[in-house]
Amino acid sequence: MIDLHTHSTVSDGSDAPRRIPELAAEVGCSAVALTDHDRLDGVEEARGRAEELGINLIAGCELSCVSPAAAGSMHVLVYFVEPVEGPLQDKLMELQTVRDERNRALATRLEDLGLPVTYDEMQEEAGGSGAGRPHAAAVLVRKGVVRSVTEAFERWLGDGRPGYVERTRLEPAEALRLIRGSGGVASAAHPLSMKLPGAELEATMRELAELGLAGMECVYGRYSPEEREGLVDLARGLGLVVTGGSDHHGTYKPDLRVGVGQGDLDVPDQALEQLAARCPS
Ligand code: AMP
Ligand code: FE
Ligand code: FE
Ligand code: ZN
Repeated sequence: MIDLHTHSTVSDGSDAPRRIPELAAEVGCSAVALTDHDRLDGVEEARGRAEELGINLIAGCELSCVSPAAAGSMHVLVYFVEPVEGPLQDKLMELQTVRDERNRALATRLEDLGLPVTYDEMQEEAGGSGAGRPHAAAVLVRKGVVRSVTEAFERWLGDGRPGYVERTRLEPAEALRLIRGSGGVASAAHPLSMKLPGAELEATMRELAELGLAGMECVYGRYSPEEREGLVDLARGLGLVVTGGSDHHGTYKPDLRVGVGQGDLDVPDQALEQLAARCPS
């Protein structure tokens, strides 16, 4: 059993990086990828703990890209990129600056809406690492404005809601170029969040495959067996590696747990070797 999609306190998860391999080991995973949004800062700590536990920690991150459909969002998972010098790593630094500026604008917007969330409170909630909407949501929950993070997104923070403030996203082609330039491989995260009808999803994935996309996250924590099967067929047809992961965020997404997702996650072990085989040499 493996899990190729997890978040720690380095982005918008609630578990420290060292907890991720612990949680993975507890459910019997042999390998786990740490894929914080825009950051590789948790890799060293997580790897140290993974080595003690005798499991494999894959360095990675998750990037938000410009989506082909206005309504959808496109995320790309990155694997085998270490926290060292490199073109993607340089871009990550830039993205963090842009995110910080967006967070200031977000706090101002929420204040304009009469919601009690300041930039400092978001930062505090994030514990000094990459703050984002989930942290604003957590502040709203703590202050009793909403009952859950989900409700905060539905009412205020979700895409197109009154508190939504756009954030710069990478073009998919640029993301893929940078990832390969840093020696890594990419898999399209939770592809159904692009909200594309079947034929367009296939056309988009084919284009991305031609640009160097290696895999598709077919086995995703929140997808039904039918959705997973459909995505597996699509990936196979396009010659993409079938990957998967829980998208564990701890208390920020309480229904998803490392290794098991909502209970039935079963990511094929061979995904890891198949991805590694597609690393640029
Ligand atoms: P940001 O990167 O600041 O734009 O925030 C995006 C993050 O918010 C995503 O990575 C998710 O973890 C989280 N998120 C997005 N939509 C929702 C939602 N509807 N409910 C809960 N969390 C969400
Ligand atoms: Fe997230
Ligand atoms: Fe994502
Ligand atoms: Zn994620």
